[in-house]
Parts: sequence; C-alpha cells; structure tokens
Amino acid sequence: MLTDAHCHPFDLEKVFPGAEAERRRLGVLCAASATDLKEFEHNEELSRRAKAEAAPLLLPCFALHPQLPAAYTAEGKSGGSGTQANFKDALATLETLAGQGRLAAIGETGFDLYNAAFKETEKIQDELFAVHLETALHYELPLVLHVRRAMHKVFAHARVLKKCKSVIFHSWSGTLGEGETLLKKGVNAFFSFGTTIMLNHHEAMRCCAVFHLTSILTETDAPYQPLCGSPCSSWGDLPRILAAAAALRRQAGTKGASPEELEVAIETNFKKAFGVY
Ligand SMILES: [Zn+2]
Repeated sequence: MLTDAHCHPFDLEKVFPGAEAERRRLGVLCAASATDLKEFEHNEELSRRAKAEAAPLLLPCFALHPQLPAAYTAEGKSGGSGTQANFKDALATLETLAGQGRLAAIGETGFDLYNAAFKETEKIQDELFAVHLETALHYELPLVLHVRRAMHKVFAHARVLKKCKSVIFHSWSGTLGEGETLLKKGVNAFFSFGTTIMLNHHEAMRCCAVFHLTSILTETDAPYQPLCGSPCSSWGDLPRILAAAAALRRQAGTKGASPEELEVAIETNFKKAFGVY
C-alpha cells in the first residue's frame, strides 16, 4: 500500500478538485495536516467517510505551523510581543482535539529559520513548539516536525523528543550524520522523503539511499512540493517517489532496492510511526 506521511488535503482540493478520488483509486494511506479548525474538520470528514466506506484511511493531524507567526506578523495581526496571546484560540483547539481523542498526530510543528522574516519569530516558534511537545507527550501522540535551518533546535530538545511515541521528520532536511545521531540518542525518529529526492537535493538523496530501511517514510506534502512543470504535488507522485527512492538505494547497495520491497517496508514504518495497525 502506498503511504503519505505528510500532506494537506484541504489545500490540495483547492488546486486539484477530485484529489480524494485519486487517493482512493491509488489506495493511499495518509496523514493529513491541518493548521486551523476549518481545515481539520474538512480532513476529519474525509477520514470519517473513508472509514465508513472501507477506503484507505486518512489520519487527521493538527498543529500551528511554524510559519504561522511570520504570516500573522505580515498581516499586522501580531504585536510581535513574543507571547502566545495571538494563538490562544488555536492552542485551545489543539488541546481540545487532543483531549477528545480526535488526533492521529500533532503536526506539523517545529522550527523554520529559513529567512529573516521567519527568524524574527523564533521566540514565538519556541513557545508554540513547547506547547505542542507537551501536548504530544501528555496524550502520547506522534509528532510531525517541519524543520528548516533549525536542526540545532531539534538537538536541543533531543532528551524530551526521546520520550515521544514517535517523531516524524517531514521532508527530512538534516544530514546523514544528524539523522543517525538522533536514532543513537534514542529518539524514535522516522525520516520522510518526497519530491526533493527527484529535485537534486543531494543530502536528502544520500539520506534516503542510506538510512536504515526501518526509518524511512514517503510523503507528498501535497500540494506544496510540485515536480517541475506540475502545478502541485499530489498522491499520483507517490509511485514516482518510491521508484526514485528504490533507485537511490539500489545504487547505494542498501535494502529496499526495488519499489515493491520499499513500498511494503514503508507501509510497516508508517503504521509503526502513527500507531495504526
Ligand atoms: Zn506541509
């Protein structure tokens, strides 16, 4: 079964109406991120219907995206005070959904220090992350992380991340050494790869080729990681991502060198990472 560890079905539907039909046709089991209640409820409804119709599951996740504080600042919504005040309602939603057992995972949360605008909100990102981490630990939920130019912050939290049920690195952006060190430190880490391995991201390709077969996942980040010439990424990309990953592993001489073998292993990893059986 094809699996997608990270996607945004609500946003995908806007640019690709009928995406859910494609998901079902391809039989994709996926974890769906949402960053507000409207988006979450859309995904939850898709999930409810999939369950009722015995279609492949869609697992609803929720978190305040680490880019959100910068977006709020740009819209003039934030006083830039570094407090959680602007996000009180959304954090209350996180707590409510987790408490009601409606979340398959908390994500995507994490750190984005990619540019100056994001860096300016680092303190707010830190505060938001702390709440997400605490909630994940309290409710024993997997954590889906978005990390850009901020791996040092992940390592600063390694001792606590070790206590998490699982930590899924969406679109893994670290180095081979960083990934291996996280596993050595006892973090139940899974490294997810999408179209970046087909877009000449050398370190992602190296990691995808060499990481242990039990640690890797596939994702689309749909609609946000399109291949050249495509308006969006979508579930139809997954067979190509799998084929590219298998080719990289074949070259490296690691296990999971055929798309079929890799698909089976990654489905097992996905189920372990999200606790679905
Ligand atoms: Zn995403």
